[in-house]
Amino acid sequence: MKLLKAIRNLKLCHRYPFLRPRRVWDGKVIPIWTWKAQWTWLDSFPDGWHKFILSQLEEVRKVLIEYGELKNFRILDAKEKYGEARIYWTGVLEKTCYDKVNDILIQMEIDSWNFCSSCGEYATMESKGYILPFCPECAKHARQKGIKCVAKKE
Ligand SMILES: [Zn+2]
Repeated sequence: MKLLKAIRNLKLCHRYPFLRPRRVWDGKVIPIWTWKAQWTWLDSFPDGWHKFILSQLEEVRKVLIEYGELKNFRILDAKEKYGEARIYWTGVLEKTCYDKVNDILIQMEIDSWNFCSSCGEYATMESKGYILPFCPECAKHARQKGIKCVAKKE
C-alpha cells in the first residue's frame, strides 16, 4: 500500500513538480528519504475533488510550460476552506503567465464548490457547521455519521 502510494505520488510529482512538498524556510524540496513520497499537496484536499483539481492543475501546467515557467511556480499552502479548494502560491512569473495561472486557480476555487467533496459528483447539498459540498448520495452517508446536510442555496 505504501509502495503503491509512493509510485503514484512520484508519477504525480514528475508531471506536476509543484505538488512535491518543500521546506518552508528555504523552499528546497524535502529529500526523498524523509519525504518517502507519502504525501503531496493534492492530499490537502478531500478525495472527491482530486479529479477536478488535477484537471485544473493540468491547465496550469500547460500555461507554465508555454511560458517556460514550470520550475518557478511554487505552492505555499493548499487547503479546503469554507467548502472551496484554495491554493496559495508564489513565483516570479512572466506577467501574462502569472495572470493566466491566477485566473485558473481563482476559477478553480469557485468551481470546486460544485463538486461533491466525497465522490466528485455534482454537489447539490452542503454540510452545516463545517461547510463542505456533497451530492445527495454522500449527504445521506454524512447524515448517518451525524453531519447535518441541507440543500445548497443557489
Ligand atoms: Zn458524492
